[in-house]
Amino acid sequence: MKLDILVFGAHPDDAELGCGGTIALHVKAGHKVGVVDLTRGELGTRGSVQTRDAEAAEAARVLGLAARENLNLPDGFFENTKAHQLEIVKAVRKYQPTIVLANARYDRHPDHGRGSDLAYEGCFLAGLAKIETSIDGVAQKPWRPRALYHYVQSQFITPDFVVDISDTWETKIASIRAYRSQFFDPNSKEPETYISNPPIKGGCPLLNASTEADDAHPVLRKQAVSILNTLRDSIITMLDNGVKYGQLKPGIEKEYYASIIIATLEGAIMMSKLRGNNEDITLATRHLETVIRDISI
Ligand SMILES: [Zn+2]
Repeated sequence: MKLDILVFGAHPDDAELGCGGTIALHVKAGHKVGVVDLTRGELGTRGSVQTRDAEAAEAARVLGLAARENLNLPDGFFENTKAHQLEIVKAVRKYQPTIVLANARYDRHPDHGRGSDLAYEGCFLAGLAKIETSIDGVAQKPWRPRALYHYVQSQFITPDFVVDISDTWETKIASIRAYRSQFFDPNSKEPETYISNPPIKGGCPLLNASTEADDAHPVLRKQAVSILNTLRDSIITMLDNGVKYGQLKPGIEKEYYASIIIATLEGAIMMSKLRGNNEDITLATRHLETVIRDISI
């Protein structure tokens, strides 16, 4: 099957996280897009090979992929060597893509950078006629994609160009949600990871601005107060709606709960940020859940 775009990803979910919106955009435009995952993500902290296989198939359905396959290379330990380059060569010749998308050239996970190099070299080698490959005894013809682009994933890299995925944003998110075992799930008993529950890096902008402003920056302080009021008002509106739709007890003191919710979260964000983990924010969330249960019908 000839594809317009072939996406290589070191792990099932790299394609969705890195360029799911771009994939969906081109599928919508009538192009044939496929994904080749290098590994089955068997070293992933959460989930199993079986759950990842099922999740990848579900994501493929959401994105409308024309093909998806897995090269079954070892997660964490595939190499940019002849044996693994030939696997890329075979995939490129099989799908004859015009454009190839690959992992970022360097990233938080070392597999991404290595996967990027492997895809780049494999795409070049696929065009060399003297490299002979075959699938099921049938010799393959040389093929070199016209262009190879890298998608940005965990670490920010200034892009050479961006694709406007406003029209397919929802599809991208739905394809990522297909990987249920990998992302935040309040009922999961599996260990937390960098992507299932990332630490609060920047903290809360409101908290940062109000600490900064204090009495020394009256203009900033005015802005911070205005944002705090907007936040407080929106929580009061939510509580109002809860009462209106019969979800919360009538007659609750909305201003009181709005202040308690904001104070608890902001305090916990400050503590979690300072300590560099999610313990305090997790405890504060647990506490707020009991508070909300108390006023629920
Ligand atoms: Zn990955």
